[in-house]
Amino acid sequence: MDTGTLCGLLATDVDHIEPGDNHDAGNLQALCRFHHAKKSATEGANAANAKRERRERKRESQGSARTQMLKSLRDSRDVTNDADNGP
Ligand SMILES: [Zn+2]
Repeated sequence: MDTGTLCGLLATDVDHIEPGDNHDAGNLQALCRFHHAKKSATEGANAANAKRERRERKRESQGSARTQMLKSLRDSRDVTNDADNGP
């Protein structure tokens, strides 16, 4: 049986091969505590990165809309200022 151990240490943890809620035996493997923690940390970092990228992409699109709005506000104010300060 392939225990999935990477280092020969006693496997004490059950790892989800594909992270998530799939508890089928085919998605579970035994890992030592060190490698399970390491794998989980990598998965957590990947998930956090994906989350941050989604958030940044959202902010960028919001940012451009906001920039467009501010630009149009500034343009209209410039027109007004020109009229006020004109000769
Ligand atoms: Zn290990």
